[in-house]
Amino acid sequence: MGLNDSSPGAMRNGRGLSDQWAESVVVRPRTTERHITVHKRLVLGFALSILTLIIVTAVAVVLSVRFEECGGRDRNGGAAGESGSRGSGGSAKLNGSRGERTGERGDDEAAQPWRSSRLPGSIRPRHYDLALAVYMDNFTFSGEVSIELECINATRFIVLHTDRLEVDKVSVTAESGAGGRPANKPGGGAMRIHRHFPYPATQMYVVVLHRELKPLRTYRLNVSFDAAIEDELLGFFRSSYTLHREKRYLAVTQFSPIHARKAFPCFDEPVYKATFSLTLRHDPQYTSLSNMPVDSSSLSDEDGWLTNHFARTPRMSTYYLAWAVCNFTYKETQTGSGVTIRLYARPDAISSGAGDYALDITKKLLGFYQDYFKVQYSLPKLDLLAVPKHPYAAMENWGLSVFVEQKILLDAEVSSSSYQMELTMVVVHEICHQWFGDLVTPVWWEDVWLKEGFAHFFEYVGTDFLFPKWNMEKQRFLTDVLHEVMLLDGLSTSHPISQEVEQATDIDRVFDWIAYKKGAALIRMLANVMGQTLFQKGLNDYLLSHMYSNAARDDLWSKLSQAMRSEGRDIDIGQMMDRWTLQMGYPVVTISKNQSEQLPTHYITISQEHFLYAQEVKSNNSLQWQIPLTVSVGNSSSVSSEILLWINNKTETHRIGQIDDNTWLLGNINQTGYFRVNYDLQNWKLLIQQLHNNPQIISVGNRAGLIDDAFNLARAGYLPQGVPLQLIGYLPEEPSFLPWHSASRALYQLDKLLDRTDEYSLFSDYVLKQVASRYHQMGWPTYGPASEGNVLQASYQTEELQRELIMLACSFGNKQCHRQAVAYISDWISSNKNRIPLNIRDIVYCTGVSLMDEDVWEFIWMKFHSTNAVSEKKILLEALTCSDNTFLLNRLLNLSLTSDLVPEQDVIDVIIHVGRNPQGRNLAWKYFREKWDILNARYGEALFMNSKLIGGVTEFLNTDRELNELKEFIQTSGVGAGPALPRALEIVEGNVRWHRLHRRQFYQWLRKPANSALG
Ligand SMILES: [Zn+2]
Repeated sequence: MGLNDSSPGAMRNGRGLSDQWAESVVVRPRTTERHITVHKRLVLGFALSILTLIIVTAVAVVLSVRFEECGGRDRNGGAAGESGSRGSGGSAKLNGSRGERTGERGDDEAAQPWRSSRLPGSIRPRHYDLALAVYMDNFTFSGEVSIELECINATRFIVLHTDRLEVDKVSVTAESGAGGRPANKPGGGAMRIHRHFPYPATQMYVVVLHRELKPLRTYRLNVSFDAAIEDELLGFFRSSYTLHREKRYLAVTQFSPIHARKAFPCFDEPVYKATFSLTLRHDPQYTSLSNMPVDSSSLSDEDGWLTNHFARTPRMSTYYLAWAVCNFTYKETQTGSGVTIRLYARPDAISSGAGDYALDITKKLLGFYQDYFKVQYSLPKLDLLAVPKHPYAAMENWGLSVFVEQKILLDAEVSSSSYQMELTMVVVHEICHQWFGDLVTPVWWEDVWLKEGFAHFFEYVGTDFLFPKWNMEKQRFLTDVLHEVMLLDGLSTSHPISQEVEQATDIDRVFDWIAYKKGAALIRMLANVMGQTLFQKGLNDYLLSHMYSNAARDDLWSKLSQAMRSEGRDIDIGQMMDRWTLQMGYPVVTISKNQSEQLPTHYITISQEHFLYAQEVKSNNSLQWQIPLTVSVGNSSSVSSEILLWINNKTETHRIGQIDDNTWLLGNINQTGYFRVNYDLQNWKLLIQQLHNNPQIISVGNRAGLIDDAFNLARAGYLPQGVPLQLIGYLPEEPSFLPWHSASRALYQLDKLLDRTDEYSLFSDYVLKQVASRYHQMGWPTYGPASEGNVLQASYQTEELQRELIMLACSFGNKQCHRQAVAYISDWISSNKNRIPLNIRDIVYCTGVSLMDEDVWEFIWMKFHSTNAVSEKKILLEALTCSDNTFLLNRLLNLSLTSDLVPEQDVIDVIIHVGRNPQGRNLAWKYFREKWDILNARYGEALFMNSKLIGGVTEFLNTDRELNELKEFIQTSGVGAGPALPRALEIVEGNVRWHRLHRRQFYQWLRKPANSALG
């Protein structure tokens, strides 16, 4: 599943700018009203049942008969093997209330397995025959499911999931033995049902039988039901688009993680894999799609409706089942091994060729993964469906992956290379899931990183396959994944990557950056320890052993250990990785040359401790890791090849070959490990000298790593504040993009702390001094369609470096940069031709709006409304938040929330970006608190949105007053907002602490940047 993201790498006065890697926001629309309705229905149902109970009791007393015999309806209902009738939803609800009342009598929970948050496990589904009639005119559907069940332990209860379904008829039949054929003994078929009812608290449906189901026997459960095609983006939902000025509707599913139960009764936990045969009946003006190709289809003589029977799926989890009813068109291609790939989208998008790029790379990627994993793609076809609205960037349904349009359609004329790269990575991610996820599925949600971490890691490996020059895995991975997640995971409010979840409502929470990014970083560390060949061999064995089934992390460790042993390397991967997956956080490894007089200098001391930004909570001293530490030694002219040391203890001494006073040590070569490295001050000094004299002796990955480690170690108080500042003094010598990107991320972090301080110009002048020469050397890109929009031919690294330097220069106040941006905007306004190069439009728009008058703001506002290109709309909207004029900012905030001028999914971005603008900070923070009730109602259910908003409006707070305001807000309103508020509190406390402890030292160094003084 692809999450939407907004990385914090925004520029300063570029305040408004999101990092170019930030993805657009897509939200689930509000669900409150629906919940209120459901709630009302429940209350009504409960009231009715109480009333019924009173009447029944009264009648029973009067007639002097036993109460139990009056409950006749649902007891007798089972006589014919089914009960209820069409439209008898009311009785189902009464039954439901009775079920709950039964529970309230305090019966033993084991006797009522539906009260547990997990399915009881006495029964397993083997196959579903699911037939649906889809009514697009009134957005409803009705269905019949027939589930072949295998009884594991004797039980009278069939417990499965439903949510918001109106269950109509239920019947159960016994089939003979293990063969699954219906029993032909007289009367052997139908089983008598005692009663059946929903249990909404756990989203379960319970069928109680008169007699027990017997182990090893096969049964069949038949349920018919009705439901709505929802307006919210979960379960089977609808959305719309405009074609030839006409509104068109489509309906599609989103079942991950727990929403298949909203579309049909099923055993909705990943471990209950089964095969599915789906039949869809609908108006013939629509096309229908599912995981598998259509086996046969027919038109009804009666009403002319189309019925599509889809081929039986392989064994798979319920949340990967998918279908869609739409009137999209497609383009297709075939792989060498005969898999048909189709891209379905709005007809106008298909005819304009907007899907061609994704189709082309998907074909290449299927080949790539088949070669890499040495396991064939399992299905005869793969459809990619581009939908206008989706709760996530994309969803990897097997054979029918669904993407929000912005993540799959590419308009080469107006798309920047960063948009293309982002889209590429989403496609690479989802295709990887066809193996890690669809084919082998994590047993339970606690190990969701087993699929998300892999897919995120392979985003970089697979993109490198498509575009080897981009060098993603060795470079961009560091800043966008490793550095990014170490910021989060260095907080004491972080959590282990494998986290327990039981409640259905908690499952959304496991899809966070720790699962995606830390998962990817750990997998990359492991791949580097094992070496490419053994890593691939282990993955191949893992996939083959667990295909069409489920696996837990220990299954992976055991296959990887086996691969290592086959080459005589005896490492217990499970033992090593448990430290990294079951413990939160990561270590800082300190390498120092030995100071002891007894030991000769070629010994080094290595120690490890839990890295935390909050020094005072460093009480978790007991945490220890098994660390694969690679070390090189070097001097001004050469560097040794790396050696691998396993660090298992708090402190260890290692022999390291010849070193003297001029030799530096470098740890974590190419930053393949998930940890930070610190050194003694003398070693930092030697490394910094090396960078100033000849940076290229040190690899580009390590240059970026040294910058990130130095800034973060200083921020957390492990290093004097002058060290990172002196380190970046070498940047004028830095020719590569990655170290610049690493530095700019760190500088924007500092900028958030400093931009309201009196001495701010000391800092901004220092940054501009480092940037000036490279900025002037690289210049600005030229506008021209030939070089635009086609990253395949572009020299990506050069383009990115140029962009980074322009962003730094304009953000920190380089006058020439400002003049250039203003000239571009003036040209646009006067000529009404936008000749601004695509890759820097966001920077120019934002800079223009912040420096120029109100008319420019109005001009951009008008352009925002008139453009149709999604990527352009997004950066125009963000530019509006860059204004210095608080009146305009206030107007924008109010318009966003209260009108439909700003798309609902963009409102959060507007608030966050206003907060990034130093002039808008107080405004956004105040606005957020005032409107919290509305925002929480609208975005609260999508936890990821909520935490993005909370993080976005609080990360800049850094005064005691603001900290108190945050505490007060948490106390009065922060109930139920998930882990985002405690995390925000820790970050703001860290900001305040940094000012208290380190700001003076920081500015002191800037006033006197003595070359040799690190302290
Ligand atoms: Zn994913």
